[in-house]
Amino acid sequence: MSPFRAEDFRPIIPAAPAVRALRSIMNTLKYLAGYPPHLQARVRELIEQDRLGTMLADKYGESHAVRTDGQLYEYVQAIKDRHLRKSAPLSKVIYDAKLQVMKHALGTHTTISRVQGDRLKASREMRIATVFRDAPAAFLRMIVVHELAHLKEAEHNKSFYQLCSHIEPDYHQLEFDARLYLTHLEVERRQ
Ligand SMILES: [Zn+2]
Repeated sequence: MSPFRAEDFRPIIPAAPAVRALRSIMNTLKYLAGYPPHLQARVRELIEQDRLGTMLADKYGESHAVRTDGQLYEYVQAIKDRHLRKSAPLSKVIYDAKLQVMKHALGTHTTISRVQGDRLKASREMRIATVFRDAPAAFLRMIVVHELAHLKEAEHNKSFYQLCSHIEPDYHQLEFDARLYLTHLEVERRQ
C-alpha cells in the first residue's frame, strides 16, 4: 500500500482577494492602530474615495524650508530655547534616511518614533526621519516637539503629552494628522 494518500495533500489555498485587500488596508492603517474604530473607519472611507490626499493638502498646504541638517539644528534649537532652555544641550540634530517612522506601543496609543531611541537619548542626539523633510511644516514641528519633550520625559505618559501640548497647543490634532499623512504616503506607495 502506498504511504501517500490523496487526502494528505492539501492544496495551499491562497488568501481570497477580499482577505488580501483587508490585510493590506489594515497594514496601511498601522499608524492609526491606537485610535478608535469609528475614526479608522472614517479614514478607510477617505482612502476608498481617494480623498485623503486632497483633504491633507487643503489643511496643510504650507511647506517648510528646513532642508539641511544645519537648518534642522537651528530650527530645533529655536524651539528648545523658547520652551526647554534648561534641558540638556543637544549635541547633534540630523535628518536620518534610515530611520523608520514606526509605531511603538504606549498604552492606549501608539506613536511615531525613532528606532534607536535609547542609544540616542543617552547621547542627546536627535534624529528626525527624512520623510519629514518633505512633509508639511506643521508635521515637522509636531515631530520636533515630540522629540524635544523626550528630553524631559522618556515615556509616552501623561506628563509627556502635557509637555507636548504646552509647547504646541495643537499637538494632539497634529499628531493625528501626521499619522494620516504617513498613511496617505503608504497608500500612494502601494498604488
Ligand atoms: Zn516618542
